[in-house]
Amino acid sequence: MSYLFALAGNQNSGKTTLFNALTGSNQHVGNFPGVTVEKKEGQLKNYKEASVVDLPGIYSLSPYTAEEVVTRDFIIQEHPDAIINIIDATNIERNLYLSLQLMELDTPMVIALNMMDEVIASGNTIEVKALAEHLGVPVVPISAAKNEGITELVHQVLEVAKAKQKPARMDFCEGEVHVAIHSVAHIVEQKAAKQGLPRRYAATKMIEGDEPTMAALQLTDNEKHIIEHVVENMEEKLGTDREAALADMRYSFIEGVCRECVVKHGDTKEQKRSEKIDHVLTHKVLGIPIFLCVMLLIFWLTFDLIGAPLQDLLGAGIDALTGVIQTGMEAAGVQPWLQSLVVNGICAGVGSVLSFLPIIVLLFFFLSLLEDSGYMARVAFVMDKLLRKIGLSGRSFVPMLVGFGCSVPAIMATRTLSSERDRKMTILLTPFMSCSAKLPIYGMITAAFFPRHAGLVMIGMYVLGILVMIGSGLLLKSTVYKGKPVPFVMELPAYRLPSARSVLLHMWQKAKDFLRKAFTIIFVASIVIWVLQSFSWSLQYVEDSAQSILASIGGVVAPLFKPLGFGDWRAATAILTGFSAKESVVSTLSVLTGAASDGQLSVILQSMLSPAGALSFLTFTILYMPCVAAFAASKREMGSWKGAIGNALYQTGAAYVVALVVYFVARMVL
Ligand code: GDP
Ligand code: MG
Repeated sequence: MSYLFALAGNQNSGKTTLFNALTGSNQHVGNFPGVTVEKKEGQLKNYKEASVVDLPGIYSLSPYTAEEVVTRDFIIQEHPDAIINIIDATNIERNLYLSLQLMELDTPMVIALNMMDEVIASGNTIEVKALAEHLGVPVVPISAAKNEGITELVHQVLEVAKAKQKPARMDFCEGEVHVAIHSVAHIVEQKAAKQGLPRRYAATKMIEGDEPTMAALQLTDNEKHIIEHVVENMEEKLGTDREAALADMRYSFIEGVCRECVVKHGDTKEQKRSEKIDHVLTHKVLGIPIFLCVMLLIFWLTFDLIGAPLQDLLGAGIDALTGVIQTGMEAAGVQPWLQSLVVNGICAGVGSVLSFLPIIVLLFFFLSLLEDSGYMARVAFVMDKLLRKIGLSGRSFVPMLVGFGCSVPAIMATRTLSSERDRKMTILLTPFMSCSAKLPIYGMITAAFFPRHAGLVMIGMYVLGILVMIGSGLLLKSTVYKGKPVPFVMELPAYRLPSARSVLLHMWQKAKDFLRKAFTIIFVASIVIWVLQSFSWSLQYVEDSAQSILASIGGVVAPLFKPLGFGDWRAATAILTGFSAKESVVSTLSVLTGAASDGQLSVILQSMLSPAGALSFLTFTILYMPCVAAFAASKREMGSWKGAIGNALYQTGAAYVVALVVYFVARMVL
């Protein structure tokens, strides 16, 4: 017998932690609401026939965000054998709100009462048995992070699935709401059955005025009239609107249950501690300066104190290895063209990118500390007011911060935004945050042109990206994306010490991704570029790459970049190949210039570009359309080619204009 289980719960209830405990697979665990945006699936550790799907964290089943839609569609359409509803026991009232809605889906269900370790440590108690009786579904106390209660949970879930044991009660309503729900349930019963929708779920959704459900049911006008009449009657008698009436109904039931089952002496230790920390970190005046200091500290540690020596070390190692390979090939009498391919093509291309591994791993290390500790959520909160000025809300800040690492997860993280408008705008603006793939480009240009002001130029480029983002926000707010960002409501999770395992896993995954990219895309791109620059159109091996195929292609686009100060065909080609991955800009230039070392590359670059041209080149590369992977993510999330291409055109256009300005100004100053 094979089973499918759905794991559902609020954000930060410990879903990902439980998923990892259940499946033993390596998933990233975050402490920011909304990190889990993808549907992850895994098999139970000791029961391979059963698989679990980690659904996005949500607070209700109303279709306000893409994630809520994903969750309800999954449960209704995929018919999981059971729902594992994980709830944060330290926040039981709010978490049960979703539980009540999940029960309406009429699917076997077990509640996993998580974070019991914190509840017990704080001296509070929860009467688990009584809770289960009131709710009509089994409740298993667990601590996902401590791996406690997982075996019992699995046992219980399998039991419920085998017996197809549905929630014993769904009727939590009283009085007017009760009357309304049951009347509507009768009306929609047959049509709901035909669509495979649970009866009570269909009824409450109709009362809430849920459009997707309304469309699915295909009611007659007559039926709609009757329902509207029933609902209006309820609203009138209760003196509230329909949504509030249902929410009140659920909350008053939850209150009653908690009064009986939960003994609470006060907040948990973690909640008290968080409150104290928040006094400082989300302070009205100090909040933003503190955040800026944190970011500066992170950049300093990443790029300077820890990152730079490691990078030098790795670079020296790569150079030494290249030397060994070259002498080896010479000694073995390998053909000169093959030697050139290996040394000038592969070693130069892959090596120039590879040396950035330490910095990229460090950057992701710090980003995941921010995320897992819960600080990222505070930053979003603190930044909300500022972001509003450019037409976004605090929620957009997280994708942007993630964008410093990589645009792909950043674009995906926009799924937590509830408004289409905010979402599309964030997808367009996020790539302006300078991603880690651009670091090798900074490294190359600053080493050649601004060795004594490398830090300044780099910070300047990050700031420039942010300024362009702000400018674009202002522009879009009054043109394409008119309207207001949605109000910012986000729960601030308690600060928790990130687990070493989760952080290390995250770093390892990033290192793996990066290495894979270096040895696949960059590797192939380096070879292709070497071939294109070593042969002419008549497939003759050419000594001077100016006679090559690549030179003629680069020559066609180069004039476009002439006004920007980098009309050299090699620079133009690097811009083109940068589309495959931004690191390719560096590997392309290394290959094209035939430089044997970083020092030599610097010298050649100096002869190719003026300092002003170099600055303009740098500006253009950080701003122009992101790489293929980010473009694909943008297409997926925007939902259309048109949207994605529009974004790319806008980004490239902005890059062109800004680089033009930078070149103009730099020429006067430098
Ligand atoms: P998700 O957003 O629902 O996927 O939640 P996560 O799995 O990312 O967990 C949120 C935070 O709660 C992380 O910092 C976890 O380490 C922490 N956490 C998860 N389960 C427990 C638990 O049982 N006890 C304690 N004390 N912390 C937990
Ligand atoms: Mg998660």
